[in-house]
Formats: sequence, structure tokens, C-alpha cells
Amino acid sequence: MEVSILQPELAAKIADLYSRMEQAYDLVARQLDFTCDGCPDNCCDSYFLHHTYVEWAYLWQGLMALAPERRKEIENRAAEYAAACERALARDERPQVMCPLNDEGRCGLYQHRLMICRMHGVPSSLTFPNGKVQKFPGCFRCQEIVGDRQAGPSVERASLFRELVALEQELLGEKQGQLPKLKKTIAEMILAGPPRL
Ligand code: SF4
Ligand code: SF4
Repeated sequence: MEVSILQPELAAKIADLYSRMEQAYDLVARQLDFTCDGCPDNCCDSYFLHHTYVEWAYLWQGLMALAPERRKEIENRAAEYAAACERALARDERPQVMCPLNDEGRCGLYQHRLMICRMHGVPSSLTFPNGKVQKFPGCFRCQEIVGDRQAGPSVERASLFRELVALEQELLGEKQGQLPKLKKTIAEMILAGPPRL
């Protein structure tokens, strides 16, 4: 059952953008002959903060489609995750806690996973309007494949980011600028419930 948290057109647009992010990732992964198969690690325990209300709402669209008991289980895990992060941050450490949506190594909400989940792994870059380029080397296993190569296949994030920003603007409209700047882990998004806009 698909539950509408976002207007259907906006939900369709984010699903389409997410699928193109996935295609861009897959193309680079194929060119590098890189897969996650056999990885001894699972990067779903990386500490990431997310910044858009539209992704938060789309995540909740996925959560609302789950059976209540399944959602409760995820909420319980999110509470444990948040507490573990708080303890790590209090020790001045970067938290490393498994994402509450991860089920034995696999994403339990794959179609609704966030942008960072779709970008992490292969090398990528972000070109700013002033021409400055920020490079992301990919995960440790991909870095082993790429080695010392200076140039190679890479996902350029800029146009994808711009599209996400446009969807955020479409969702927030005039409220943009009035709402608090968003900086939440997935667990915090789960615990907070759907964004109230
Ligand atoms: S992206 Fe890299 S670190 Fe993460 S699971 Fe895949 S191979 Fe492992
Ligand atoms: S949402 Fe899914 S892919 Fe992203 S960190 Fe959580 S389990 Fe991993």
C-alpha cells in the first residue's frame, strides 16, 4: 500500500530523481567493476546527517506503508540508535552505529533510502558554481580498486543536487526560510514522525 505524505506528483518526481541517482552510481560502479558483494564492512553504520524536508517526507511515505508492528520495531531501533549516538558524541567520538533501517545487512526501506545512501561507495565530485570542485573518493573498498589513479569514472553530483534543491523548494514554497535548517540522522527523522509543514 502506498501512503501519500507528499503530493503524488512530488513523490513521483523524487522517486524519478532517486532512480537517476542510482543509474549514475551504477554506471560508475560498472565501469570500475565494483560491487558491494563480499564486503566485510557495511557502510550503513556511517554517521550521516540529512538536510532536506522532502527526503524526510519521502522516507516517511515508505514508513507509513509498513505494517504498524514493523514500523514499531524500526522506531525501537531508532531510539537505540539515537541513544548510542548521543553516548558517542558525548565522548567526542564520531558515532558508528548500524542504521535502524538495516535488516541483517540489507536496507529495509530500499526504495525510500536517502540521497547519501545512493551516492556513497563510488567516487564522486561536486562542482560549485564558482568552479571549485569537491571530490569524494568513495568507500574504502572502492578506493582500493581506484588506487592512485588521478582521473577515472566518477559521479558528478551538482545537477542531481540542484534537482533535489528544486524539489525542496517545491515542497516548502513560502515556508522555506521560516523553517529551522534541517540536520537530522535517519533515526531522528524516524523518531520525529513525518515533517510537520
Ligand atoms: S559501499 Fe563500500 S563499504 Fe559500503 S557495503 Fe559497499 S563495498 Fe562495503
Ligand atoms: S537507509 Fe538503508 S541504505 Fe541508508 S543507511 Fe539506512 S539501511 Fe543503509
